[in-house]
Amino acid sequence: MNDKVRVSIIGTGRMGAALAAAILRAGYPLHAWNRSAAKLAPLVAKGARPATSPLEAVQGSQVVILNVRDYAASDALLRTPELQNALRGKTIVQLCSGSPAQAREAAAWAQAHGIDYLDGAIMATPDFIGEPGGTVLYSGPRAVFERLRPLLLTLGGNTQHVGEDPGHACALDAALLFQMWGALFGALQGFAICRAEGVAVADYAMQLRAIGPMVEGALGDVMDRVVQGRLAADDATLATLETHYGAFRHLLALHEERGLHDDLPRAMERVFRPAMDAGHGQDDFAVLSRFLA
Ligand code: NAP
Repeated sequence: MNDKVRVSIIGTGRMGAALAAAILRAGYPLHAWNRSAAKLAPLVAKGARPATSPLEAVQGSQVVILNVRDYAASDALLRTPELQNALRGKTIVQLCSGSPAQAREAAAWAQAHGIDYLDGAIMATPDFIGEPGGTVLYSGPRAVFERLRPLLLTLGGNTQHVGEDPGHACALDAALLFQMWGALFGALQGFAICRAEGVAVADYAMQLRAIGPMVEGALGDVMDRVVQGRLAADDATLATLETHYGAFRHLLALHEERGLHDDLPRAMERVFRPAMDAGHGQDDFAVLSRFLA
């Protein structure tokens, strides 16, 4: 007899299927529902029980994992009198991407209906789910997180409770994704520059990889400085704000000369300029953190 908690998953798209497979690998009994039933077949082959409705999935479990497209889709599925009744006394783990405000609203709804609620943010692609390097962050009642820890650990080695406030996992999700998109958009802007200047894009990609450790170091340095409040230049400063800005202005000029799409560099200019005008040229680059608050 399996003494593990009975789990259901609602939503088995790309991410939901990876979550379900990891839970099955760990030996949990799993009930799965998906709007398009055909996506359940590979999971049934791995041992999942297919549910014909969200209600059936909820009735067969103690913990309900949600991974449909967004909160609006999961609200539409769960916020019916029938489902709310079936969920009373159970636990929802909401893993759809959303905003901190949506997470707080969902947690309040759950509390009002006698449902335990954890909000999770998946900081991983499906291939990282169930792997030691997979990160999933949770916020909400710590006691609920601790109760589910063995189950949640099956989804990724870096499983962390990041606060009682149910919005904090989504807030960290937004902050981490912004950094990722900053890097990805930066790379794409670099390709545009290379095309305009006749530089082979493969050469750019090769040099981008080569400077990776330097960029990683600069990122680590700015993180440490912001956390420690060391915004003024000191002996360890790698380059002052004025030095950064001097080089950045060449980049702006290049965009103008070549008529390149310049919304991204112009947005950066709108952060650099006020800091320079306020006399921070001799401070560390980290001082810009004050101009983004
Ligand atoms: P996906 O492959 O497009 O799957 C979307 C899932 O949502 C499918 O199960 C789909 O059902 C279901 N769905 C969409 N609208 C629905 C509705 N109105 N009612 C019921 N079910 C609905 O997307 P995904 O990559 O699995 O992403 C799922 C969630 O995980 C999203 O919130 C996403 O932001 C988050 N996430 C994904 C990744 C990733 O790398 N993929 C990483 C982090 C977080 P059907 O199969 O019937 O269409």
